[in-house]
Amino acid sequence: MMDFERRGVMLVIASPSGAGKSSISRALFAQDPNIRLSVSVTTRARRTDEIDGTHYHFIDVPAFEKMREAGDLLEWAEVHGNYYGTPGSKVEERLSTGKDILFDIDYQGTLQLYENCREDMVTVFILPPSIAELRARLERRAQDSSGTIEKRLRNARKEMEHYSEYDYVLVNEDLEQSVQMVRSILAAARLQRGRQTRLDGFVEDLKVQIDALA
Ligand code: 5GP
Repeated sequence: MMDFERRGVMLVIASPSGAGKSSISRALFAQDPNIRLSVSVTTRARRTDEIDGTHYHFIDVPAFEKMREAGDLLEWAEVHGNYYGTPGSKVEERLSTGKDILFDIDYQGTLQLYENCREDMVTVFILPPSIAELRARLERRAQDSSGTIEKRLRNARKEMEHYSEYDYVLVNEDLEQSVQMVRSILAAARLQRGRQTRLDGFVEDLKVQIDALA
């Protein structure tokens, strides 16, 4: 009921690399067709299992700078020596038609989005159960060189300090359980009064129905 009578949710999921954010997001998309990934632009090299336009739009530094200068990015950040940014073009269109968007962005980007989009946002920070597990996940992924893994681990320390800027924090011990938690957060966000755009009319209608009984 009332599915399209609300504004969409900007669901931000952040975590250090390897904490399981991508697996959680993937499972969420498979289970819930109303939420889609905001596909970022990045200057990072494409990993072999990534598809241009699906995981990221892979662009070079001049193209990135051009977008940034033109104001085409809602937020941007430099992470692990590469640029990442969120194109703003489709966001409002989705939100105003009741569709949700998942943002897989870091804390720098989250803080920038808070400035203009706070009311639309619900933010979740994901922690790894331990650093041994985080390292193991990064190594299993084995898509990055060992130097890159070290860089990502050092960056994880910095990233984790920002957990307190998020609305929800969850420790990802069990993938399925974490997906359920994120789905619960999203379900609650969809029902927030401020997001439901036709409540006044709906309640008026209920009142009219009661009055008609008299
Ligand atoms: P990865 O290279 O592992 O795909 O991503 C590295 C980090 O960059 C992750 O923490 C990811 O959330 C972040 N990231 C990806 N896209 C964006 C973006 O558009 N903006 C910001 N601020 N961070 C991003």
